[in-house]
Amino acid sequence: VTDVDRGPGPDFDPAPAITNLRLLAERTGGPDGAARLAWTPVWEEARGLAVEIAGEDFAAERDRAGNLWFLPHGPRRPLVVLGSHLDSVPNGGWLDGALGVIAGIEVARRLQPAADAAGLTLAVVDWADEEGARFGRSLYGSASFVGSLDPAQLEKLEDTDGERAVDVLAASGVDLGSLGRPESRLAEIAAYLELHIEQGPVLERAGIDTCAVSGTVGIERERLDFVGQPAHAGPTPMEGRRDAFLAAAETAVALEEMAVEAGGRVTTGRLELEPGVPTVVPGRASLYVDLRHGDADELRRMRERALSIAAGTAARRGCEVSREHVWGIEPRAFDPRLVALAQRACQEVTGERHDAIESGALHDAAEMAAKVPTAMIFCASLRGLSHAPEEDSTEQALELSLRAFYGLAAKTLDAVS
Ligand SMILES: [Zn+2]
Repeated sequence: VTDVDRGPGPDFDPAPAITNLRLLAERTGGPDGAARLAWTPVWEEARGLAVEIAGEDFAAERDRAGNLWFLPHGPRRPLVVLGSHLDSVPNGGWLDGALGVIAGIEVARRLQPAADAAGLTLAVVDWADEEGARFGRSLYGSASFVGSLDPAQLEKLEDTDGERAVDVLAASGVDLGSLGRPESRLAEIAAYLELHIEQGPVLERAGIDTCAVSGTVGIERERLDFVGQPAHAGPTPMEGRRDAFLAAAETAVALEEMAVEAGGRVTTGRLELEPGVPTVVPGRASLYVDLRHGDADELRRMRERALSIAAGTAARRGCEVSREHVWGIEPRAFDPRLVALAQRACQEVTGERHDAIESGALHDAAEMAAKVPTAMIFCASLRGLSHAPEEDSTEQALELSLRAFYGLAAKTLDAVS
């Protein structure tokens, strides 16, 4: 794409947002990556810096769940909310989440007069603990906000140091007893928009810098527990062993093929063996299976097939298998009208028209999309890397995606009013 091919696009300078993102990366990260783990001092520092960046133009306030809101002064009208998350995984990337929050602040600052004219309020939100990196509960803040989080689930959670989520959240001023129902502000929201990095290689491979997102995939997470017979590695012949690990391993390989056929994704990212001794045939193997698909029926079929594959391999190896459903979320399609506006906003800055792409990663937008009209824009990631210090995007992709996001926000104000 040359400059000549590009439409004029909206008049928005992306430089302040990029400068502030670099400042945030410097202050809350380093060569080992971003260190904005939720509910830690570095995360609080990142939030403090965002409040400084927002400055006099916004009042900052926390809701019951600990989400940080930036609200312009003046009369409160129906809200168009721009949001994402400042928290990161340990050794995370500088753009994951931070891009959307910092972009939101600059875009809301610039568009507030237009929002006033449209009879709307442009607010920004930094969702708390999107990553779930410490306690294993992703989308905590946005799920709490819409009322889809069951506080009872949090009561069991501990981090790797044995600190309880309940205590850590309480120290941050969150009263679990107050969660479990939607925040009243939800009823005031007319639309939710999020800018995020893609975190995968699809856009870069297609030579696209910024693109609308059609929705997020559905996910089913299962733990498969294979039980065989522990036995001595020496005297026990190879024939007739009941090796729980081999049953799990064979299942994992078969699931790969199944996912390819189904056009979905499967990841077996965690395996626990018992007794976990080199000289003992594993008697127990717990395999975590993460299944993803954009279509709810296909996802259900993938899950059924996964369970029957596991049952088949277990039986062939003389093992038993049981399953525990760990977690799941339905596929979420974003609002078609807002997705069309996002496509147009991207086209205006790149000069190219592209189909909206599906997000294989979850975002806070998935929780919001269940309740309010929602759209997202992606910024292409370099080499598809994310959740790693190497996470990056080209300057051009950053600039274009910021300008496209501004265009989407402006169009949304028009459409909603
Ligand atoms: Zn993120």
